[in-house]
Amino acid sequence: VVVALAVFLVAITLQGTSGKEVLSERENAVIVSLARNEELHALLESIQSLEDRFNNKFHYDWIFLNEKPFSEDFINETTAMVSGKTQYGLIPLEHWSFPDYIDTEKAKKRFTELENVYKYGGQESYRHMCRFNSGFFYKHELLKPYKYYWRVEPGVKFYCDINYDVFKFMRENNKAYGFTVALFENPKTIPSLWLAVRDFLSINGLPTENFMEFLSSNKGTDYNTCHFWSNFEIADLDIWRSEFYENFFNFLDRTGGFFYERWGDAPVHTIGAALQLSADKFHFFEDIGYSHPPITACTNNDVLRKKNKCSCNPMFDFNPNYYVSCMEHFMEVSRMEYPEGWGHFVL
Ligand code: GDP
Ligand code: MN
Repeated sequence: VVVALAVFLVAITLQGTSGKEVLSERENAVIVSLARNEELHALLESIQSLEDRFNNKFHYDWIFLNEKPFSEDFINETTAMVSGKTQYGLIPLEHWSFPDYIDTEKAKKRFTELENVYKYGGQESYRHMCRFNSGFFYKHELLKPYKYYWRVEPGVKFYCDINYDVFKFMRENNKAYGFTVALFENPKTIPSLWLAVRDFLSINGLPTENFMEFLSSNKGTDYNTCHFWSNFEIADLDIWRSEFYENFFNFLDRTGGFFYERWGDAPVHTIGAALQLSADKFHFFEDIGYSHPPITACTNNDVLRKKNKCSCNPMFDFNPNYYVSCMEHFMEVSRMEYPEGWGHFVL
């Protein structure tokens, strides 16, 4: 009886708080949101949007992460909206604080100096967030069992039906990193990032499989600041679990650039992935209409938009605007064909 009770309790625990059914044909994948309690309602908008367009057909689990405990309200409201199992993780302090090799006085002085130079220039928390997303989210206990993840932020919107399993697509097509927006970084936020990358490569060498062409037009001398917008990512966690990326992140972290400058996790992810993966491992999800203010991705392919019941305005598609977007560059260097209707509205 004791054994039976124990088995029963384990089964109940595995089912999760919501007791929602587990579908065996799902991929080993999870949706992940880092968020603050105050962002609950903006996050509910994102969840509703993704559930309606995708997850109500697949019921993937959803992990929520926070450096502070989630409120009861946050847990109840999000669990009620997710069709898969929900899990709530507290970020360990060592993943969200100054490491001992950072001069915190110097860092705080830099925050003051950079306050009005660019967005979040004066914010300490934003830097912990970027560093966490760069080097730690995939190390969280809750993510350990999974291979693929979809990153979702508060306040984003999905405009088109997604009628296939994107994670299955990733696996079957041997893709590692999926994105919707490619753009240039503000160089002021990363003045010494590429110097650090070059230092790292001069010690460790450039892996034979790489997509350096996306990052640099002169074989790595200069960085063109092209990167994928990381508020949307459908990717293989093994990119970040690789020995290469571990060394890469630790090297960057040691320089202090996450704090003394304001290195974003987007350029760090893109560079870290493109230095170890060939072009064919990256996938542009043309069919996923998406917005994270102020940028929208919305295919100009009229047939595709109607087929997937997209509600976005194709005039606002960011990607074909070559003076702000890196998408044309991506297509060129990955020898990808231009999507149907590409850049219809670009002047
Ligand atoms: P932006 O997209 O670069 O403008 O930055 P966001 O404010 O959207 O932050 C990026 C992601 O990190 C979002 O998922 C936020 O919810 C999350 N985030 C930002 N700052 C914090 C923080 O201090 N604590 C927690 N828990 N999440 C944060
Ligand atoms: Mn955001």
